[in-house]
Amino acid sequence: MSAETPAWTVYRRLLGRARRYWVLLAAAGLGMVFEALAAAAFTWMMKPMVDETFVAQNADVRWTIPLVIVGLFVMRGIATYATDYGMARTGRSVVRDLRRDILAKYLRLPSQRFDREPVAAMVSRLNYDTEQVTQASSDALKVILTDSLTIVALLGVMLWYSPRVTLVMLVLAPLIAGISSVVGRRYRRINRGIQDGVASMAQVAEQALSAQQEVKIYGAQASEQARYQSLVDRNLGLGVKVEATRAMASSVVQVLAAIGLAVILLVAGHEAARGRMTAGSFVALLTAMMAMLPSLKRITNVQALVQRGVAAADRLFAILDEADEADNGTRPLVRARGQIEFRGVGVTYPGQDRPALEGISFSAAPGTVTAIVGRSGSGKSTLIRLLPRFYEASAGQVLLDGHPVEDYRLAHLRQQVAMVGQRVMLFDDSIEANIAYGAQAGSAPDRVRAAAEAANALEFIERLPGGMQARIGENGGLLSGGQRQRLAIARAILKDAPILILDEATAALDTESERLVQDALQRLIPDRTTLVIAHRLSTVEHADQVLVLDAGRLVEQGTHAELLARGGLYAHLHRMQFREPEAG
Ligand code: ATP
Repeated sequence: MSAETPAWTVYRRLLGRARRYWVLLAAAGLGMVFEALAAAAFTWMMKPMVDETFVAQNADVRWTIPLVIVGLFVMRGIATYATDYGMARTGRSVVRDLRRDILAKYLRLPSQRFDREPVAAMVSRLNYDTEQVTQASSDALKVILTDSLTIVALLGVMLWYSPRVTLVMLVLAPLIAGISSVVGRRYRRINRGIQDGVASMAQVAEQALSAQQEVKIYGAQASEQARYQSLVDRNLGLGVKVEATRAMASSVVQVLAAIGLAVILLVAGHEAARGRMTAGSFVALLTAMMAMLPSLKRITNVQALVQRGVAAADRLFAILDEADEADNGTRPLVRARGQIEFRGVGVTYPGQDRPALEGISFSAAPGTVTAIVGRSGSGKSTLIRLLPRFYEASAGQVLLDGHPVEDYRLAHLRQQVAMVGQRVMLFDDSIEANIAYGAQAGSAPDRVRAAAEAANALEFIERLPGGMQARIGENGGLLSGGQRQRLAIARAILKDAPILILDEATAALDTESERLVQDALQRLIPDRTTLVIAHRLSTVEHADQVLVLDAGRLVEQGTHAELLARGGLYAHLHRMQFREPEAG
C-alpha cells in the first residue's frame, strides 16, 4: 500500500478495525441521533415559546415550556456523554490494538528491514501515527455523523415551519458563503505575498549590514539602499492592499448578509400576511439557521483531520502488510547435536555491489570452538548472523546437523542458539527476570540462581538491595560492563543451547572483571559448538580452529600454531590485534 491507495479503502479498513467495538459504537450512534433530535426540538420550541408565552400569554404553558427545555437539555447531556464516551473509547481502543499489532509485526520483520528504517522512526510510527489515526477514526467520525444529523434535523424543523422561506434561505446561504470565500481567498493571497516580502526585505538588509565593510569600501551604499527601497515600497503597497481588502471584505460580507436578511424578511412578511407564518415560527427559523452554522463549519474543516489520519493509517497498514521473516521450514528439531557446516556461502547486502561474504566453506563439530578473526568490516558479524537466520545467504548453504537451516522452523532453530554479544541488552525488570528471559521465563528460582552462580554473577547480585529481585533500572544503567556481561552469560547458561555464539567485547574490562567473565565463559563453552568473534589471545590459542576472514573471503584456516607458522595474514593480525589483560 502507498500513496495511491484510495483514501476510502484505507478508511474502510480502519472502520473494520473499529467493528469489534460495535456495542460502544451503537451507543455513540444512538447518542448522536438524540443529540441532533434535541437540537431540533429546541429550535422547534421557539415557536410555542414566542407565540404562546409572549404573544398569546397563555398561562397553561408558562410552566410546561421551561420544564420541557430543562428536560430536553438533560436528555441532550446524557446523549452527548454517550457519544463522546463511546467514540473516545472506540478510538482509543483502535489505537491500542494498532500499537499492539504493529509492535508484534515489527518483531516478526526480517533483520534487513531494520537496516532500512531507523528504530527512532519506528517508535515514532508507534507513537504519533497511531495518535493521528484516533483523530480520523473517532473525532472526525463524530463530527461527520453528529453534525450531519444535526443539520438534517434542523433543516427538518425549518421545512416544517415554512418551506418557502427555507428555500429562499437555502438559495441565499451558499451565494453569500461563496462570495465571502472568494473575498477571503484574495485576502489570504495578498497576506502571503506580504510575508514573502518581509522575508526578502530582512535578507537584503542582513546582507548589506553584515557586509558593511565591503559596502563601504566599494561605495555601494546607494545601490544597497535602492535595492532595499524597492522592497519597502512593495511592502507598503501590499500592506495597504491587505487592509483595504480586509475592510472591503468585511463590509461586503455585512452588506450581503443584510441583503440576505432583507430578502428573507420580505418573503417572511409576505407569508405572515397570508397567515402562513407567525412571529414564533420566524424566530424558530432564524434560530435553526444560526444553530446550523457551527455544524457546517466543523464539517467543512474536518477534511484536513481525516486526510492526516488516513495518511497515517495508510503508513501503518503498509507496515502490517509487510512480509514476515520467511519461516517455511517443517523439519522438527528438539535439540540439535550442533554439527555446523557452511558450504560455499556468500552474502550480498541489498544495495551493495560488493559481497560481504563470498565462498565461505568450513565445518564445526559439536564440542569444539571456532574462532573467527579478521579486520574490521571483513564479514565476521555477517557470518555469525547467518546461523540463527537473521540474514539469509545469497549463495551456498548453511547446514545444521546436515540439513539446511531453512528446513527447520525458525523458532526451533533459534532455540538451539545462545548468544553473548558485545552489547548486552537488559530490560527494566528484576535481575531474575533478566536472566530467565523470554522462553526461559518462569524457570525455577534455584536454576536461575545456579546459572547466576556459574556465571560468577551471584557475588554482585547478592550485594544489591533485593538480590535476585532487585530491579536493574532502564537498560541496566546501574550495572558495570563486566556485570552486564556476566548477566548475559547467566542468561546463556540457563538457556543451555547446543550452539553458542560469542562476540567478544573489544573494550577492555579491568583485570578482575575480565577474569570473572573469562572464568564464566569457560564454564559455558564445553559441550557446545561455539563460534566466537575473537579479540583475545587466549581465545584463539585455545580454539580448535581459527578462521581468518579478509574482505569477505576465508583466507586462512587452522589452529593458532599452524597459522602462526604459516606467517600469513593471521601472523600479521596476531602481532597487531590481540590483547591480553595484564597479569595481576
Ligand atoms: P567489525 O569487526 O567492525 O564488526 P565485521 O568483520 O563484523 O566488522 P561485518 O559487520 O560483517 O564485518 O561487515 C562486512 C561488510 O558488510 C562491511 O562492508 C559492512 O559495511 C557490510 N554490512 C554489514 N552489515 C550490513 C547491513 N546490515 N547492511 C548492509 N551492509 C552491511
